[in-house]
Amino acid sequence: MSASQVDQTDPSQDPLAGIAPALFLGLGSDGVYARTTLYEQVFGRLVALVDRLRDARAEVLRFPPVMNRRQLERSGYLKSFPNLLGCVCVLHGSEAAIRAAADRHESGGDWTTSLAAADLVLTPAACYPLYPLVAARGALPAGGLVFDVAADCFRREPSRSLDRLQSFRMREFVRIGSPEDITTFREGWIQRARDLAGELALPYSVDIANDPFFGRVGQVMAVSQLQQALKFELLIPYYERAKPTACMSFNYHREHFGQVWGIKASGEAPAHTGCVAFGMDRLTVALFANHGVDPGRWPASARRALEL
Ligand code: ATP
Ligand code: ZN
Ligand code: MG
Repeated sequence: MSASQVDQTDPSQDPLAGIAPALFLGLGSDGVYARTTLYEQVFGRLVALVDRLRDARAEVLRFPPVMNRRQLERSGYLKSFPNLLGCVCVLHGSEAAIRAAADRHESGGDWTTSLAAADLVLTPAACYPLYPLVAARGALPAGGLVFDVAADCFRREPSRSLDRLQSFRMREFVRIGSPEDITTFREGWIQRARDLAGELALPYSVDIANDPFFGRVGQVMAVSQLQQALKFELLIPYYERAKPTACMSFNYHREHFGQVWGIKASGEAPAHTGCVAFGMDRLTVALFANHGVDPGRWPASARRALEL
């Protein structure tokens, strides 16, 4: 849920409506924005801050906004969030067939009825493309691996709220190793995230969370996720009395990806994985929402942390 969902139907009721024009320019679809110079300046400082927090052992990889469809299918995404997934569709076929479809548009018809799915989906989270890459390298080295990944992500959840975008940037640190490796990694990062929010002078809480898995079967998955404490979130309210927004998540996937992709930890046991995700756009909006649109007037500790 979102901070600005006071009244979804009436944007003038949104307490963030005042700051929105300084940050985002509408592009014709809800939750899809051009970002202003001011916004990108702060976003860039936040990226640099997260760079400085990176584990020295981490391998840095940057993923495109699209990924292989079969890989995402195999990862189990369609069981969990089929409602959020975007698939790339294109006009296949002969020149004549493609021309005919395009011409339908010219004559007021619907060209999209000729579209067929390509081998690509829109990347829904930054860590999905990583696991097959790691699996292809063979057995894990002793002590496991740590990665720094990022992608422009897509989720089909159109909203007018500034904290729920359809296209947003996700940065993740991913740990692959033994269950103890993941637990230590995740606990360390929950504490570092608390420190980070404190330095940025943002009000926050950390809470156990569950994903809004799709459908009735999804409710069972959500309960199991809670019972096993697989997901925690760093929540930041965007204004007084706002429902807090999840700006970071700390996820333990257990052996799921290790099993799906055949990543071996030691011997034949599948590796465990976990990730800490920074919602980079949500964190950036959180800064502007809490401190205003003039970074020159932000709290000293936030300016220091961001090297503003
Ligand atoms: P929510 O419960 O708010 O939908 P989520 O649990 O789906 O969040 P994750 O799947 O854990 O989020 O994604 C990692 C991070 O990406 C989130 O903590 C959040 O900061 C960010 N994020 C997720 N969905 C969006 C979105 N639609 N717009 C902007 N940022 C998002
Ligand atoms: Zn992840
Ligand atoms: Mg979500």
